[in-house]
Amino acid sequence: MKYKSTRGWESKLSSAEAIKIGIAPDGGLFVPDNIVKLANEDIIALKDMTYQQRAVQILKHFLTDYTIDEITECVNKAYTCDKFSSSDIAPLNILNVNASILELWHGPTCAFKDMALQILPHLLVKAIEKTGESDEIVILVATSGDTGKAALEGFKDVKGTRIIVFFPNNGVSEVQRLQMVTQEGTNVHSIAVEGNFDDTQTGVKEIFCNTELEQTMAKAGLKFSSANSINWGRLVPQIVYYFSAYADLLKKDQINYGDKINFVVPTGNFGNILAGYFAMRMGLPVNKLVCASNENNILTDFINTGIYDKNREFKKTMSPSMDILISSNLERLLYEVTGQDSGLVCEWMNELKANGVYEVNRETLNGIKKIFWAGYTTEKHTLQTISEIYKEYNYVVDTHTAVGIDVYDKYVISTADMTKTVIVSTASPFKFNESVAEAIFGAEEIKGQSEFKLLEVLSEKCGIIIPEGLKKLDTKPVLHSKVCEKGEMKQVVENILGI
Ligand SMILES: *Cc1c(COP(=O)(O)O)cnc(C)c1O
Repeated sequence: MKYKSTRGWESKLSSAEAIKIGIAPDGGLFVPDNIVKLANEDIIALKDMTYQQRAVQILKHFLTDYTIDEITECVNKAYTCDKFSSSDIAPLNILNVNASILELWHGPTCAFKDMALQILPHLLVKAIEKTGESDEIVILVATSGDTGKAALEGFKDVKGTRIIVFFPNNGVSEVQRLQMVTQEGTNVHSIAVEGNFDDTQTGVKEIFCNTELEQTMAKAGLKFSSANSINWGRLVPQIVYYFSAYADLLKKDQINYGDKINFVVPTGNFGNILAGYFAMRMGLPVNKLVCASNENNILTDFINTGIYDKNREFKKTMSPSMDILISSNLERLLYEVTGQDSGLVCEWMNELKANGVYEVNRETLNGIKKIFWAGYTTEKHTLQTISEIYKEYNYVVDTHTAVGIDVYDKYVISTADMTKTVIVSTASPFKFNESVAEAIFGAEEIKGQSEFKLLEVLSEKCGIIIPEGLKKLDTKPVLHSKVCEKGEMKQVVENILGI
């Protein structure tokens, strides 16, 4: 299988090449040139496999230039029991007759980003070998909080790579910040940016597209790549857990083969839900993909009206990993839904860049609406949902997952659809413990307590175990204390690399 750019760049690359360079030279994103449809037997066979085996069965269709042995090796290095707190890796928790929760946060950094970022470094190291690359790869990351830590953890001390992470200062939770500034490893850097996530992401994209810098890098034997979800290597491992959830529903006798199910996905950069879209294109029986947003509800508006308008206030919410106004991966969906029309995609992306707004045609909008349903929730309802779920099921969810659950309720009310639904749970409740504790115990109860004290409170009162990666974070030495202006990001990179 070859990969091409959403913006019409004429070359097609192998998956190893696409993963290595991350973003296409024309600024587009890589997409597979044809999507393999799985036979029914292949999907049914997943039922009796481990998560690792399921991963090999899905990844082999996209990474056709990797041998099965290579894929197996990457998978087995990534999804291990010492890194994941559940041997199921992505366990499915049945909540009630209609809804179940897919827990994607058992990895080392307690958010779903680990599902991809634990394997991406291994895929990339193989890609470097396979393509005969001699340059050192510099991973550049913009993060709204969770990607940064997951990428640092995944790439630390990985031979032939260096990693530089930019995060919005004051735009991440205290736990997220400490996770990044205490990161150990000889090849890692994390820097706070005075700006929000979109400023940070825009800054990183500009560095990527700077051809002069690229030439200077090349002279020094360095090459950029991306660990953001613009990299296909981030997306492809995420397709696996959509199949895995379906296989688990079959295994638990919740559905019969062929029954369609819904997925509800708390969405920011549109990477997670897009993996669900690709799973559907591969033949997974999916009825609707429900796109759940917080008060930064640009995707809700887009999916309902066809107008993508980022000229609006950026809100800081208690689900910060979804505080995003430019959802990069939407570009891949637009490319697919328009029948791979790179001309249209370029037009819209140029309008977005120039005016902050574009409107897709009716046909495209209808194509999107056939598959997606979108809604959003407020801060107040996010807290309410955490509290209600705890009371009803004695189950603790984080703020992002709560957004998903509340939007699912809205979906059912609006459509009366009773199709079995998987709600994708993207973070451990401990990662956003301040809001979670407020929801469960009340603001008065937790007043004045540090986030770290709250970890213990939450653990004791709710009977859940504090994840290894979050324990003792407050006593670890701070190793990265740099803060820069958004205009200084390129300079910072040059200083770090000594070019
Ligand atoms: C990154 C993230 C999201 C958003 O995922 P996208 O792929 O960007 O849509 C949602 N929840 C959590 C906890 C995250 O870390």
